[in-house]
Amino acid sequence: MRTPELDWTHGESTLLVITCARCGNHWYLPQVHCPVCGSVNSDATPAAGGGLCVAVTRLHVTADGQDAPVRLALVELDEGPVVMGRVHDADLAPGDRAHVDFRLDGPNGVLVPSFAKEMPQKGSVS
Ligand SMILES: [Zn+2]
Repeated sequence: MRTPELDWTHGESTLLVITCARCGNHWYLPQVHCPVCGSVNSDATPAAGGGLCVAVTRLHVTADGQDAPVRLALVELDEGPVVMGRVHDADLAPGDRAHVDFRLDGPNGVLVPSFAKEMPQKGSVS
């Protein structure tokens, strides 16, 4: 197994997509074994950060009792894996294109993925 790059769980503003060298499966959040075939040979690639918002929910009670309500989204990255993150855009809804940003969260200021509606590129045809 190659040395993985660091992601947001290590304080870096990055989502990593891991690809199994044996079966080609993609997953999110580094782990030693491929969840499909068990291989330890994989490559970590930083995700571009864009994807399709598939769900949004609101938590009215949080584990630490702070910052409620909290909006969370599931976003299917363009690279394949589905990622859960905060939402910092009141307009983000299922079916929208979303893009990740990284924001400090909680009393200890931990960097977490947070999604907003992706704005169309200037000059693009809609
Ligand atoms: Zn595999």
